This record gives sequence, C-alpha cells and structure tokens, in this order.
Amino acid sequence: MATENTKCVIIGSGPAGYTAAIYASRANISPILYEGIQPGGQLTTTSEVENFPGYPEGVMGSQLMEDLRRQALRFGADIRNGIIKDVDFSERPFKVTADDNTVILADTVIVATGASARYLGLPDEQRFAGLGVSACATCDGFFYRGKTVAVVGGGDTACEESLYLSGLAKQVYLIVRKDFLRASKVMQKRVMDKENITVLFNTNTLGLFGEEFLEGAHLVEFAGTDKEHKFDINIDGFFLAIGHKPNTDIFRGKLELDDQGYIVLPGKSQATSVEGVFAAGDVADSHYQQAITAAGTGCRAALDAEHFLMEHQQ
Ligand SMILES: Cc1cc2nc3c(=O)[nH]c(=O)nc-3n(C[C@H](O)[C@H](O)[C@H](O)COP(=O)(O)OP(=O)(O)OC[C@H]3O[C@@H](n4cnc5c(N)ncnc54)[C@H](O)[C@@H]3O)c2cc1C
Repeated sequence: MATENTKCVIIGSGPAGYTAAIYASRANISPILYEGIQPGGQLTTTSEVENFPGYPEGVMGSQLMEDLRRQALRFGADIRNGIIKDVDFSERPFKVTADDNTVILADTVIVATGASARYLGLPDEQRFAGLGVSACATCDGFFYRGKTVAVVGGGDTACEESLYLSGLAKQVYLIVRKDFLRASKVMQKRVMDKENITVLFNTNTLGLFGEEFLEGAHLVEFAGTDKEHKFDINIDGFFLAIGHKPNTDIFRGKLELDDQGYIVLPGKSQATSVEGVFAAGDVADSHYQQAITAAGTGCRAALDAEHFLMEHQQ
C-alpha cells in the first residue's frame, strides 16, 4: 500500500476542483487532484455553455472543462484518474484513500465532489439528455425561447424554474404528482397567476417520445384510480426539478452535513466543520449550482487552504 504526503488533496474535477487546483498550484502548494468517476464533472454531460464568462460565442461543456484542466496542469497540479473511497479527518495530517488503495496524508483537503440531479428513472431521460431533457432551467432555458416545455416537481425549485421558463417559452406545463404544490404560498400564487403556465396536478410521467429530439411526454392522471386517464403532451423541453443529491456519502459522520446532505460551511469562508478541510462548488451549495459559482468557491477554498497552511507551518 503506497503512502504519500502532500500539502493539499483536491477531491473532484468539476469547475470547483480544477479552479482550486489552478490557485493552489500557483501558490506552490502542489496539490494532488482526484478526478473521480466523472472527469470534468457535470458540464461534460451538456453541449453548449453560453453563460460562462470569457466565452462570448459560447463553448462546449467538455471543451470548457478540458481548458480548465490544462490550465491546472500548466501550473503543476498532479491530476489523477481515480476515486477517493475513504477519508479520515479525525487527526492531521488527514488520511485520504483512493480506490487503488493509495493512501495520502494531507495537511489540507478541498472537497469538490459536486451534486447529481435527481431523475425520474425513465429510460428515455438518458436518451434525450441534451436533446430536450435538462435538469437546469437557468442553464438551458434560453434554448427554448418561444417553445413549449414541461417542468416536473412540486416544490419551490419547480415553481421557480416554471416561472423562469415562462419568461422564455411560449407555454409551460408544470407536472405535479400530488394534488397540491409544496412550494411557499407566494410562489404558488405567482405560478397560478401566470397565464402561460398550466399546472397538471395528480399527474405522473410515463415516458417521453420523439425521433432525434424530444417531441412529447406520455402522462397519466389519477394513476391507479377509477379516474385514471392517460394522455400525451407535445413539448420541446422536459425539465427535472425534483432536487439534487450532493455527493457526500463518504463524508457522512466526518463533516457536518445539512438535512439534504450538503456540506455545511459554518463561517464566511469555505471552511467546513473540520479545521483544514474546505469545500467548494455544488457539494456545499444547494442554491446557486452554476459553473461560475462553483469555480468562484474553488478559488476561495484554495486561498483558504493556503492561509491555513501558512498559519499552521511547523
Ligand atoms: C446537463 C447540465 C447542464 C448544465 N449547464 C450549465 C450551464 O450552461 N452553465 C452553468 O453555469 N452551469 C451549468 N450546469 C451546472 C454545472 O454543471 C454545475 O453547477 C457545476 O458543474 C458544479 O461544479 P462542481 O465543481 O461543484 O461539481 P461537478 O461538476 O458536479 O463535479 C464533481 C466532480 O467530483 C468528482 N467526484 C465525486 N465524487 C468523487 C470521489 N469520491 N472521488 C473523486 N472525485 C469525485 C466527480 O467525478 C466530478 O469530477 C449544468 C449542469 C448539468 C447537469
């Protein structure tokens, strides 16, 4: 079993992880970054990214991530293809174990493991991913100007996304499993008052259809009752708004997590509940979840780690 020592381990290779690696490398911290199961993170699953500053013509998600990776390599980051399977934050140096059983003793750790959007589990969701199915209205809504879309979910996020899309799309269907919205009263009113939003209560999605691109959804109202009614809607976009799952399983019991599993940042920095462990990106942010905010907090986490190392120099 190989054991190594380092000043900083970065876990994750999304915009947060790579940005942390750029800053930490330029500060001579020589970080080791583990890419995980999805090198490049969530943006590698999308096509064009139009809202990342610095790309006036837009950029393909995978190209953006390759650019960030090359920038981190340029300053000497040690980027490794592997998954961190265990961490021990009970004492410093922290013990981080990779899936090839390499053990790294690290003075600081930056957790940037992201969050994964929850899907309904329909086979067609993957088939139409990037071809009509999206889990991010802020990211992809612009592509549906003047079109018809559906949003799935009944909480605040689903209502917010429906309202956002109603400003772009011609028609928005909000597909709600229950006979009520879980969102706040104010949000509910806004949705119900919007002329181009139709709320489909007591409705589930059975499947999606289309040739190359998404063309519609098969729905069922009052499933399993004597009022059951199956019908189709024609849509160009299908937006999931049923939440995200932060990738924090290996940190459970080791870092403070909130009730949804996101890493808690108790102060004004990226410091977690364990001194010397920092978190950046979607894994510690259930609200903004954008590439630029992830990159911004990756920068902050690296600066925090640098200050921590200076303060704790032996
Ligand atoms: C389809 C889609 C389209 C999007 N479009 C846009 C857009 O247009 N604009 C925008 O700003 N945002 C967009 N987003 C949101 C954006 O992708 C995320 O906000 C951003 O990627 C979050 O970055 P992150 O670094 O926090 O984590 P992620 O990108 O989620 O990366 C997490 C990383 O952690 C790694 N990891 C996880 N567990 C481990 C482990 N145990 N060991 C090692 N590594 C691990 C993964 O392999 C991955 O590399 C989109 C998201 C999706 C899903």
